[in-house]
Amino acid sequence: MRIIRLGLALAMAITLAACQKGPAATVDGTRIATADSSNEWLSYGKGYSEQRFSPLDKVNATNVSQLGLAWYAQFDTDRGQEATPLMVDGVLYTTTAWSKVYAFDAATGKLKWSYDPKVDGNKGFDACCDVVNRGVAIWKGKVYVGTLDGRLVALDAGTGAVAWSVQTTDPKKPFTITGAPRVVKDKVLIGNSGAEYGVRGYISAYDAATGKLVWRFYTIPNPTGAADGAASDKVMKEKGQATWPEGAWKLVGGGGTVWDAIVYDPSLDMIYFGVDNGTPWNQKERSGGKGDNLFVSSIVAVKADTGEYVWHYQVNPGESWDYSAVQPMILADLTIAGVPHKVLMQAPKNGFFYVVDRTNGKLLSAKNFVPVTWASGIDMTTGRPIENPAARYGKDVDLQMPAPLGAHNWHPMAFSPKTGLVYIPAQQMPFAFQGEDGFKYKPGAWNLGVNLLANATPLSPAQTAAMAAMIKGSLIAWDPVAQKAVWTVQRPYFWNAGVLATGGNLVFQGAAEGQVYAYDATNGKQVWSYPTGNGVIAPPMTYELGGEQYVALMVGSGGGGQVSAPAYLPKRPRLPGRLLVFKIGGTAKAPDFVLPAQPDIDLSKVTTNGDPKHGYVVFNNNCQVCHGANATGSWLPDLKRSPLITTAQDFNSVVIQGVKAHNGMISFSRFLKAQDVEDVRAFLVGQGKGDPLPVLTTVAQK
Ligand code: CA
Repeated sequence: MRIIRLGLALAMAITLAACQKGPAATVDGTRIATADSSNEWLSYGKGYSEQRFSPLDKVNATNVSQLGLAWYAQFDTDRGQEATPLMVDGVLYTTTAWSKVYAFDAATGKLKWSYDPKVDGNKGFDACCDVVNRGVAIWKGKVYVGTLDGRLVALDAGTGAVAWSVQTTDPKKPFTITGAPRVVKDKVLIGNSGAEYGVRGYISAYDAATGKLVWRFYTIPNPTGAADGAASDKVMKEKGQATWPEGAWKLVGGGGTVWDAIVYDPSLDMIYFGVDNGTPWNQKERSGGKGDNLFVSSIVAVKADTGEYVWHYQVNPGESWDYSAVQPMILADLTIAGVPHKVLMQAPKNGFFYVVDRTNGKLLSAKNFVPVTWASGIDMTTGRPIENPAARYGKDVDLQMPAPLGAHNWHPMAFSPKTGLVYIPAQQMPFAFQGEDGFKYKPGAWNLGVNLLANATPLSPAQTAAMAAMIKGSLIAWDPVAQKAVWTVQRPYFWNAGVLATGGNLVFQGAAEGQVYAYDATNGKQVWSYPTGNGVIAPPMTYELGGEQYVALMVGSGGGGQVSAPAYLPKRPRLPGRLLVFKIGGTAKAPDFVLPAQPDIDLSKVTTNGDPKHGYVVFNNNCQVCHGANATGSWLPDLKRSPLITTAQDFNSVVIQGVKAHNGMISFSRFLKAQDVEDVRAFLVGQGKGDPLPVLTTVAQK
């Protein structure tokens, strides 16, 4: 009884403090550090360890079939929704595409406030993988969001009013922010994206109260060899510089952006962040094919107060395939061979599951969780991959698994201390890597040193069928100690959603085709599903309020998979994003989506002055990333079905004059000549009419 009274007193004290100082006023390091056992969701991955496990068990196998909609909200954007909502002091905070922030009453769904940073639509061009945002951080009465155009904005948690705003990137460079900030010891941590375009990556720590920069860690050496006056200076001089011989990186930036994973261990006072691939992708162009290129594709540990380097583990030394190590990381305590370890777990793009001792960066074990062709394993003595020599592509095409979209991307995995399993949203897709002949740096464009045409060469029907059979999505329950799958749910498509594990022994995940599912965490038996009517990529979260457990998630297709590989995803029009919140016995009903009308165009009389064969080359080198290889796009506009291709004037108005720049489709006049554009139109019209793909003799056929 005394404990209950004390608990009540504590709860009342917290509520009182929250009332006196405004919502979320008491969210600090102590509260986030104990978030793993809380009824709330206080940071991106719930607490600092980012296990995405909630002990709540009021929703469980016995009653999950009665899970129904409690409330929902619909948003004003049909672009990808990747955010994890946070729930603090009865308020649910989330973000949508274009970096907009919303605060709802977490029990009723009543909107308390919203904030639109008014990101210029032109900035969408700099977003490799859709104009998404993965969520906010909360600390001492403020809500923090990173915006697509590189700002870090602090908002009053009670009103949404801007407390401060800082530009964290050079606005003249193709940086974006899509990741959620984290707050550690009164410092807001934020990274950025843009490696495909060519930037030099870094992570920054800003004073949570004032927005003043406290420290910055560059992941790539300064190309001039000079010191930056940054936390990374010492380690770059001692370790980094020597791993970067001559090459295009000095011009292009080297990559290594920190666009997602940031975790913190309060007991060791260490921050861990994941680092993206190198730029250009092709290491032969980037650094003459030499050097490990620190810290691309690495997990880096730094001291929280200063950003000073402690250790790193590089998953792909001399990375060359967009195999980033920026995928979500989980901290846990595991007993391996009878010895307790403080571990960090990551399933990066390259297809291996890594268990690392987070006190010193030593690799404890690594095993591939999907089929991979680039390496036969990881050498446990050196910690380095045993690479397949053919993976270092050049003139020859290397058909490789995983693809640049990864065996696991940003979609968060979850770890249940109850089952001891990690639930990985996994995917499989091959990619044809071939070096680009005569790579030249194009400021502001994608700079890969990879011939993207190799991935768009015509295939025979048998090859097409073989490729399609290799493309899979799955939810894998992975034993991180034994390094093996315990159960697997196969999905009809790849690019599915992030995962939540709960004390009710349930695992929740949404899927590309639009369902949200719940599974028995022990054996993978499906126990619930709900049709959202839209694709799902965002992870669910859960919280308890007023004695009721809720499960919430953002719904809406998009992100890099939809943008760059739409041919392998369900054909659906873009639909407005929604936030769905469930509870046992919920009876709310979200209306069916109104499907937008599809343009019906007649190409039979359309003529062009272009060369479709050259247009095919230009299209796949410049347009396929957003509109699909060979114009198979179904998500961003399917250009072979676009009314704009029927006249040169209409097509030029977009491609040359940039009339749709507000959507991110900027003018390509700095990349393409007028005849290139007409050739692309000729290619698109041909594809719209059902012409076969042109066959080039200069591209190796596979
Ligand atoms: Ca990348």
